[in-house]
Amino acid sequence: MNPTLPALMTGEAIGIDIGGTKINGGTIRVSDQAALQANLGTVYDLQNLATPTKTEPFLEALTTIIANLKNTSKPPIQCVGISTAGMVDPNRGMILGSTGNLPAVIGPFNLKATLEERTGLKVHVENDANAAAYGEYRAGAAQGYRNVLMITLGTGVGGGVVVEGKLVQGAHFSGGEVGHIAIGHDKKRQCTCGRWDCWEAYASGTGLALTTREMLKSQAHRPEVKALLKDDTIEEIGTHALIAAVGEKNPFAIEIMDLWHEHIAVGLGSIMNVLDPEMVVIGGGMAQFVDFEKLKKALSQRVMVPIESVHLEPAVLGNHAGMIGAAFLALEHLN
Ligand SMILES: [Zn+2]
Repeated sequence: MNPTLPALMTGEAIGIDIGGTKINGGTIRVSDQAALQANLGTVYDLQNLATPTKTEPFLEALTTIIANLKNTSKPPIQCVGISTAGMVDPNRGMILGSTGNLPAVIGPFNLKATLEERTGLKVHVENDANAAAYGEYRAGAAQGYRNVLMITLGTGVGGGVVVEGKLVQGAHFSGGEVGHIAIGHDKKRQCTCGRWDCWEAYASGTGLALTTREMLKSQAHRPEVKALLKDDTIEEIGTHALIAAVGEKNPFAIEIMDLWHEHIAVGLGSIMNVLDPEMVVIGGGMAQFVDFEKLKKALSQRVMVPIESVHLEPAVLGNHAGMIGAAFLALEHLN
């Protein structure tokens, strides 16, 4: 068996990433199987909007960004890919629910139809975690693989799944919500989603800070605590101070980081057993603190296949993964 990769659509597309406080936009050119030229210039600060919670000024800003990118691009733009927070039905281009970090758009809202009417361009809309996974799959760390799991470790835990070259959407567009698998049953920690003991509540940066405070409280007598806390109280300490203490080789801090790797491995190993991916990509602001060798060791206790047979790599597209992925999806769906 020598599976071939899905054909790559070539062309020029605009990629837009709608974040909580900013809209990022750029033009992306796909010229052959491996080539990607990206001009990722435009950033629009949503805080410039006079009324950031109103839909109309937000849509006006979005329309202006797309028009500017279209007018300044030498090769003609074929379509627009939008990566946005919130639950998205990409078939219809609908944002289905409201989302805390996107107050200007209260779903259900047909972003595709609205922007197509205003810009005259074809538009594809995708959830940001899915778009980022697709970006890494098409143009980033997972290029060349067909079965890819991406997880994003930040203040929360997100993710996206590509199976046989296709993004997993799920029956209700909630597929790939890896952060909310439960890793416990005894209601120890409540998640931001309202449920208990979600993986996110442990593997995220917020989760690591909570683990740090719990460990410090339960072992407050240890001599390394003072050096770890510095001027903070236990209630104040965050991941920044912990990482600094790891840098100073504080043994307690290293133990807490080891436990964080175990927390990551508990959830990740379960997902890997379901999907059996060839490639696992780890992105997000906390990814830089992951020790991949340590994580592989923790995973080897939990994953059914030999851990050496799975590639585990850091994401390479950073904050641009979503807009690049959305642009690829637009080219593939709309051409
Ligand atoms: Zn949750």
